[in-house]
Amino acid sequence: MRGCLPRELRIRLYNDVVALRRCGLMYKGIIEEVWRRYGVRLSKSSISEWLRGIHSPYNGRRIPSLEMLEPSEELAYVVGVVLGDGYVGKKSRVRKGYNDVMIDLEAKDREFVEEFGRCLAKVLGRRPIRPRYVKSSGRYVVEVRSQTLYELLRKPVDLKRLKKYIEHCERCVAAFLRGFADSEGSVDKRGYIYIYNTDLRLLIYINELLRRLGIELTGPRISVQRGTVIHDPRTGKQYMAKKDCYYIYIRASSNANFYKYIGFTIKRKQQRLEEYIRRITRRPKSLPPNFSHPTSPHLSS
Ligand SMILES: [Zn+2]
Repeated sequence: MRGCLPRELRIRLYNDVVALRRCGLMYKGIIEEVWRRYGVRLSKSSISEWLRGIHSPYNGRRIPSLEMLEPSEELAYVVGVVLGDGYVGKKSRVRKGYNDVMIDLEAKDREFVEEFGRCLAKVLGRRPIRPRYVKSSGRYVVEVRSQTLYELLRKPVDLKRLKKYIEHCERCVAAFLRGFADSEGSVDKRGYIYIYNTDLRLLIYINELLRRLGIELTGPRISVQRGTVIHDPRTGKQYMAKKDCYYIYIRASSNANFYKYIGFTIKRKQQRLEEYIRRITRRPKSLPPNFSHPTSPHLSS
């Protein structure tokens, strides 16, 4: 109901509700008084949401401000994904009194989009957001409107504003890196991990965080220069790179740490990494030179 009232009216109702509460009225009394003044019957739950600051007609947000956003692994994951593939922006569809600010992710791996939806829901205190399948593109989409997350994540990215969420604790750092690697990482057939991005500053930061978790890497190095014509094998089309693109490469000796601390949500990436780990742990190559097997009758011939 609240959503259908003009915003100006909702703001007046809101101010009255807050004032009446301050005067000591209970919910029932507030409802009656508002009904008497405006002929509008508010529900207990909307009054409660207003009074607890979960919602206010001033901003139309579920979380009123950035200050109320708590660090969590879920938020760190969302930040990682959005800094990579995710989209943050204003959509042209404008409704009265609202800015349509969207956070969305579109990707072909269902489990990735699902995880993004789960984390978003947790952060925003909403019911689980289930991905929508877009038949024409064969991709899954999760989309939410959130002014607060828009302010936090709009591009160009402000790392200073994000650091307290990303670096809250080691688990948050790992969740952030997982989100970014799900977005921008790839694992080749040999099991080697590369992470790509056009923002050099961001990759240098990612580099620093990975090292903190004991993961060694090479780069950032330039992979595609601006103006290069690229052939996309998936679509068969050619296009011109608009920006320089950089990559970092995880040293193979750190793959095990990457797997242990970070890993991928995307199954096909995680599987290749697992295959790699299985291969190297099976191979006895890494034995020290002086290593000798315990003498066994079968070995000594
Ligand atoms: Zn944390």
